[in-house]
Amino acid sequence: MTFVITQGCCDDASCIAVCPVQCIRPRPGDPDFTTAEQLYIDPATCIDCGACMDECPVSAIYSEWDLPEEFSDFLQINADYFATNPIEESSPADPVRRTLPADRPELSVAIVGTGPAGCYAAAELSDIKGVTVSLFDRLPTPFGLVRAGVAPDHANTKQITKRFNGLFSRPNVNAFLNVEVGQDVTIDELLQHHHAVIWSAGASDDRKLGIEGESLAGSVSAREFVAWYNGHPDFADQEYDLSGKRVVVIGNGNVALDVARVLAQPVEALAKTEAADHAIDALRESSVEEVVVTARRGPEFAAYTTGEMIGLHHVDGVRVAVVEDEVASAVRDVPRVAKVLGPALEAAGAGEERSVTFRFGLTPSKINGNGAVQSVTFQHADGSLEEIEAGLVVRAIGYRGQEVEGLPFDEQAGVIPNVAGSVCDPETGESVAGIYCSGWIKRGATGIIGTNKADSAETVDSLLRDFGAGRLPTPEYDVAHLATLVLDRCPDLVDAEGWQRIDQAERKAGRRARRPRAKLVTVDELLAASRAG
Ligand code: NAP
Repeated sequence: MTFVITQGCCDDASCIAVCPVQCIRPRPGDPDFTTAEQLYIDPATCIDCGACMDECPVSAIYSEWDLPEEFSDFLQINADYFATNPIEESSPADPVRRTLPADRPELSVAIVGTGPAGCYAAAELSDIKGVTVSLFDRLPTPFGLVRAGVAPDHANTKQITKRFNGLFSRPNVNAFLNVEVGQDVTIDELLQHHHAVIWSAGASDDRKLGIEGESLAGSVSAREFVAWYNGHPDFADQEYDLSGKRVVVIGNGNVALDVARVLAQPVEALAKTEAADHAIDALRESSVEEVVVTARRGPEFAAYTTGEMIGLHHVDGVRVAVVEDEVASAVRDVPRVAKVLGPALEAAGAGEERSVTFRFGLTPSKINGNGAVQSVTFQHADGSLEEIEAGLVVRAIGYRGQEVEGLPFDEQAGVIPNVAGSVCDPETGESVAGIYCSGWIKRGATGIIGTNKADSAETVDSLLRDFGAGRLPTPEYDVAHLATLVLDRCPDLVDAEGWQRIDQAERKAGRRARRPRAKLVTVDELLAASRAG
């Protein structure tokens, strides 16, 4: 399988930056980079991680399996480029062929969390002959942040679920959805039924600003706001006050951009996506005219990625604005800044559209309000203060891992201490037998979906090394025994078939409204759909 770059390629090369095997050509600096009609992916080198597709600002990259008919010629066009321009200086990645030791031909692994980290780990493991995987999630739906984090208007990114969905029909993968590990079944019990447990449940908390007014009504974390508009059952009944004219977003990472885009774009565009109905209804009534995205440092240190920022300029009905004094020198001196903020600097003044204004060099010092947010006070580098009025403040300063009962935790970093995914005691450095981790709880809340592929592969390699060395004791019981135990405790367990029924129900409801899916947003609705038919 390969990814294919098609007609819409904008040559901005953001895909090249994220490609772990450097299979995209020509690269900046190559003789034909500036004259090439488009960029091309070498099918012989591509490891189908999908990182380029996630990063592509113009959605011009497709997996070979999902290539639209009108782009079918591009599979060959991409391949042809390498017939005359073979990749010489970066050797293709060796395909990984993993096997179990001949004297221990069976391995069972429980994976907690079905987001990208869990799914990539499950994919790596279930490819190996003799391996059985049990996939756990506390929600009745899988895919973690792909479902509840990726912005609904990034439909192409959400297509990664097509690949993950294949896991659920593999005969050696058992799905235990709507089962909370730690509550319904303990980690020790998982270890009694498996050789190993991989904790891949992500980062379920937020970084804190630590300033006065942070917990005022109307000061909300981006994590919750994003989960709300994506229809996460835990946040479906949240209400956000969108009656003010301005929203201030603190932080300027990709999550800040997602929030700003969702708030600023015309609701008709969002209504064609899989955004939750309650969010579309609330945004239809919104009075917001301006979203101000604030960063404490200069534009050259912005946390958003180039592709995402370029993409924002292409959103119909949204005007990107900057304050000239804050960006002019960086636009002049730093090419990346020129590319992403130059157009905003040159753009004419206010129009009909809602604006997203990027501000720089503003450190938040206090959120003001009498019971509810009214404004934010920022400090400039020279010590002077500026107050920006806002009806809502969204704190988009990063996600943070939470301690898991029974596992060691690095409070400072918000991660489970580990060596290459093998969980270890921070005091002694010794491995905790049979326990592994992958994803944001392993490395912190950084990287995009494809980043988790290599991350989970590293964890799987550590696990297999320990198994091969005989360090993982044979479990007392088999997985069938666990299935009986879990079903006994969780009669509302959702298995692979149950998830497929939910998926089909959502897609069917979406088709009627010409949307990819219409999400069910309460656990009761999801369980009803899982049993229907
Ligand atoms: P992030 O990229 O880490 O950005 C956090 C932002 O918060 C930065 O601007 C940071 O500024 C700021 N910040 C941190 N502490 C602050 C403080 N005390 N006061 C003021 N500002 C503060 O986090 P994120 O946006 O949550 O994204 C998390 C990861 O998910 C990233 O790797 C991101 O690329 C990824 N993601 C990707 C996509 C996509 O590809 N479409 C979408 C969403 C998320 P400093 O730089 O000054 O620290």
